[in-house]
Amino acid sequence: MEHIKHAMIATWKMSLEGMQKASDDLFVNDDRKAALLTAITDVENNPVYHYVGYGGFPNGHGIVETDASYMDGNTMQFGAVAGLRDIASPIAVAMELSGKTKDCFLCGEGAKQYAVEHGFESKEMLSDYARQQYEQHRKNIMEHDTVCMIAKDSEGLSCGVSTSGLPFKHPGRVGDSPVIGSGFYCDSIVGSAAATGNGEDVMRGCLSLSVVTHMKMGMGVQQACETALAQHLERLATTGYQAGDISVIAMDRYGHCGVATDMKQFPFVMMDDEHHNAAVYVCTNEDGTMHIQKADDYWLSQWQGD
Ligand code: ASP
Repeated sequence: MEHIKHAMIATWKMSLEGMQKASDDLFVNDDRKAALLTAITDVENNPVYHYVGYGGFPNGHGIVETDASYMDGNTMQFGAVAGLRDIASPIAVAMELSGKTKDCFLCGEGAKQYAVEHGFESKEMLSDYARQQYEQHRKNIMEHDTVCMIAKDSEGLSCGVSTSGLPFKHPGRVGDSPVIGSGFYCDSIVGSAAATGNGEDVMRGCLSLSVVTHMKMGMGVQQACETALAQHLERLATTGYQAGDISVIAMDRYGHCGVATDMKQFPFVMMDDEHHNAAVYVCTNEDGTMHIQKADDYWLSQWQGD
């Protein structure tokens, strides 16, 4: 199988600019962790995106609480934060925590205290726009997105995730994004996967681990995404429950990517040694069959979401 030395995949169109900025980290410096940090902080810092970092919609008490995670597929170490308040870059804190073998998943006040003590920038994460939306519509916003990214350099794979979670969630609510095996998983010997969608639904299937496990059993990366997601949705349907929107991205150990969604359309971003310019692709779901193609100018001009 063709071995791609450098590759990166990310959820949603909102990852495009960040991935473009991460190009030198990946292709020149061969540094997947730096690439993930550059790309994910770019989304975290952009107030235009209302489900990640600064400008994210707050919880039901009007406070932005973020979740983030990072996993190194070589060491299998991970770091994560949940319900983190007032810290500019949750992914940076998760990355630092991934250097530890215990106390690496921190929540709430303890996570904030760690971040402050270790010199991470403090910031009021609620933008004026998000505050207005909270005051006017707090019951009506159903959307939610998370930035999930997987990167491969010549040494292996890593993945990172960052989100402000469901808009107006219960204070203290934690989604799948910082939960290992659910929102993310990475093993350089096999591959990596990460999920976006209703976190409670993702967690019930430990979806990211499930995708990686299907790869471990010999399935190709695209088929692993489709099978893991379909099996999980079918199982939930047997209980009479219809899961909300769920999408997964994945990369195998050779740098090949896969995607699956239960939405009609799910945009994602990719770049690799052959395509140095990060570009938006669309996974279209036609009755459970995934069709993937590059987004054209018309599609990009019509897309209303992140
Ligand atoms: N998974 C996120 C959460 O439940 C939301 C999303 O990805 O859309 O917090």
